[in-house]
Amino acid sequence: RLFLPTSSSSVTAPSEVEDDGKRIINLDHGDPTMYEKYWQKMGEKTTIVIPGWQSMSYFSDVKNLCWFLEPEFAKQVVRLHKVVGNAQTEGRHIVVGTGSSQLFLAALFALSPTNGSEPMSVVSASPYYSSYPSMTDYQKSGLYKWAGDAQSFNKPGPYIELVTSPNNPDGFARHSMVNRTGGILVHDLAYYWPQYTPISYQADHDLTLFTVSKTTGHAGIRIGWALVKDVEIAKRMTKFIELNTIGVSKDSQLRAAKVLKVVADSCEQSGSSEYTESFFEFNYHLMAQRWQQLREAVNASGVFSLPGFPPAYCNFHGHILEPQPAFAWLRCENNTEDCESYLRGHKILARGGRHFGVEPNYVRVSMLDRDDNFGAFLKRLSMFQS
Ligand code: PMP
Repeated sequence: RLFLPTSSSSVTAPSEVEDDGKRIINLDHGDPTMYEKYWQKMGEKTTIVIPGWQSMSYFSDVKNLCWFLEPEFAKQVVRLHKVVGNAQTEGRHIVVGTGSSQLFLAALFALSPTNGSEPMSVVSASPYYSSYPSMTDYQKSGLYKWAGDAQSFNKPGPYIELVTSPNNPDGFARHSMVNRTGGILVHDLAYYWPQYTPISYQADHDLTLFTVSKTTGHAGIRIGWALVKDVEIAKRMTKFIELNTIGVSKDSQLRAAKVLKVVADSCEQSGSSEYTESFFEFNYHLMAQRWQQLREAVNASGVFSLPGFPPAYCNFHGHILEPQPAFAWLRCENNTEDCESYLRGHKILARGGRHFGVEPNYVRVSMLDRDDNFGAFLKRLSMFQS
């Protein structure tokens, strides 16, 4: 049984969008503004008030290894993972970060030996998240160094492998790809939530990164969290954040805690007068509708193709469903070598394959923008003909 899109969360139909072909449609970033619609519906449910005398100290919980972690934020992280069933939190240390971006750097710092004769190699299978190479190398660290595609990596010695699942940009579920032992894995599960993909297993890795940005759409709060098994690694990640920013905004953690609480409440009280459907159901339907419209427009164009995804049983929704990723990974089928430039010629801004370590006949388009922008994109696609 596949979930079908409902009308309760309808997308503006392309036919309703005005498009003279001149407007620039920017779908380059994965800015999750699509979610504004849900949070507008929720009205004051996530509003918090912080008096001037509150949250003044640097410290949140001096008994916790991560001393700047707000207990209420930690509580809601554990609760939400339990409600969704996407990650094991027992026996884990939670480290909070200014987005999962800061935690990514904290993880590289924590996992690299301090006395290594050369920098630790950092790899990920292509197409990989375009920020990994630049974030790894921009400070020219002596501790770690970007070493490219995990599939062709064959340098002896230790390495860090980034496993992004579902993957940004192509949306596929992933496992480690380096064909040998001796690697340390960092799982970036930013998109392992039920609006994007079937929750088919409870993640149980050594070091896992999540972010509020892609969970609830609150990218601007700048909060992410890591679930870390090894106490020494968790301590070193905490040390990195101490050296980098002396902790993480308490205001942001409190706001994130409230948002995660409302998401968990919406799941537990789905079908009640308070929450007719959960956050994930509402946005699952929205994504399903967008993907259906996109596939129709892409097929009609004859110019592009999209990957197909195997359906799987989702423990959260209780149905078999198809993945519907946060990005569309389009391939140009018209002998255009540079798909990014081709789209730019039609005033559509998107990120070409080269940024992700693959051929430029691929391009990544955000599926998480506001209705009017996404609708304009569909309308513009309908003007393409092979
Ligand atoms: N990992 C992946 C795979 C992402 O796509 C993103 C956001 N584009 C991030 C990490 C960073 O998220 P943030 O810093 O907003 O938490």
